[in-house]
Amino acid sequence: MLNIVIFGAPGSGKGTQSELIIKEFGLEHISTGDLLRVEIKNKTELGKIAGQYIDKGQLLPDDLIIDILANVLEEKKNAKGIIFDGYPRTIPQAEALKKMLNKHNKDVNVMLNLEVEEEELINRLIARGLIQGRSDDNRETIQSRLDVYHSQTTPLVEYYTKEGKHHAIKGTGSIESIFEQIKTILAKHVG
Ligand code: AMP
Repeated sequence: MLNIVIFGAPGSGKGTQSELIIKEFGLEHISTGDLLRVEIKNKTELGKIAGQYIDKGQLLPDDLIIDILANVLEEKKNAKGIIFDGYPRTIPQAEALKKMLNKHNKDVNVMLNLEVEEEELINRLIARGLIQGRSDDNRETIQSRLDVYHSQTTPLVEYYTKEGKHHAIKGTGSIESIFEQIKTILAKHVG
């Protein structure tokens, strides 16, 4: 089992690289952002709550997102491996994930940190907003999301470094060149 946390700021290319990893290694994908957008589209109760946080560029409360994750993880417990995209975003979320996986004698194997400079992130997110029309890809919300990333999410770099799982990836350049770096790292983890 190969469990990967794909990590990086909003706009760092987590979704794009996840798709390539899934194709190459036959893993399952859990994107908490995608899950929440489906709930919003279907106008569920959870979607209504999630929308209030997402539109402000804030994180959902840990308890809520940990519950959601636990349910999806249960559905995918027989997967060959999972790529976690957009989760964890806080230390308590990372600790909860570790507990859930440890229960089944599993753990996160690799954390891939896509490093991209702030100016490039902003440009990418604005461009994505124009193309995909995501409600949170506008200037004001982008800034809150980046602030939240710096204050609440970056402590995970130290967390996974201490666990010996952190790998820095240069997240700029062509999609293929970024994927090549990832493949080199993952090749050491697939038997
Ligand atoms: P993403 O598509 O991963 O950028 O997520 C979009 C938005 O969904 C985030 O800005 C948060 O409001 C919410 N969200 C997604 N994943 C999480 C998470 N792990 N913890 C808290 N909020 C999340």
